Amino acid sequence: MNAAADMQAALAAKLRAATRAVIFTGAGISTESGIPDFRSADGIWTRMAPIDFADFVSSEAMRCEAWRRRFAMEAMFAAARPNRGHLAVAALIARGTASCVITQNIDNLHQDSGVAADMVIELHGNTRYARCLGCNLRVELEPIRAHFERYGVAPDCAACGGLLKTATISFGQAMPEAEMARAHAAAGACDLFVVLGSSLVVYPAAEVPVQAVRHGAELVIINREPTPLDDLAGLVLRSGIGDTLDGAVRAL
Ligand code: NAD
Repeated sequence: MNAAADMQAALAAKLRAATRAVIFTGAGISTESGIPDFRSADGIWTRMAPIDFADFVSSEAMRCEAWRRRFAMEAMFAAARPNRGHLAVAALIARGTASCVITQNIDNLHQDSGVAADMVIELHGNTRYARCLGCNLRVELEPIRAHFERYGVAPDCAACGGLLKTATISFGQAMPEAEMARAHAAAGACDLFVVLGSSLVVYPAAEVPVQAVRHGAELVIINREPTPLDDLAGLVLRSGIGDTLDGAVRAL
């Protein structure tokens, strides 16, 4: 299937037939908002290896590097706006076709597109603020940045003295239990599971679509590149998300 109109029509037919869809998004839905993904040719990891959680905790130099990278990306995150893909997902939730969006993304763009925060299940956290690794206190980034620029290190938690870290899940860090449980419950209760822009190689997040299929849901994948779960899907569209999803949702 190649023509854009054919792909939009095939996706619209799946959405029309669904009574309780779940949307699952990866970095690919946000590339059209100017945030690079990790694994494409111009992706973030093609340029920088990620910092493991154990290294962040054990090494002040690694913490400084993590904060330096985060603040270097602040202008990009601050300028990013929801694109047609995010808005189409918000429309699917608003019209009741989809019950929630499970996301691997950390950019807050689903909430910015108008989806209520309690309908966004963030598997890898959120980079728009920080939390204390000791007492879980939420801390905004601006005071951390001011301290970092003045002293060259991030401050410790004002409440307990613990380490502050963006509220994201790094490699080697425990997954958020409540979010994983909610994601698995949603996957087990849906009849259509739509993956948008995920390479589906990051575990345990990639277990969630597998579980949906095991419970009888149809899997739809929109991704520019092949994924390891394509063989499980009833429909695979190799296309840009914004155009295809926007067209499909408008046709409903
Ligand atoms: P990934 O980088 O591994 O894969 C993204 C996939 O999306 C790729 O296969 C790419 O071909 C596809 N893609 C990119 N733009 C697309 C478009 N416009 N239309 C269709 N397909 C497109 O990302 P991932 O699977 O989400 O895993 C990487 C991890 O990195 C995530 O768990 C996430 O936590 C983190 N991450 C988040 C952001 C963000 O919040 N925006 C950005 C980069 C990485």
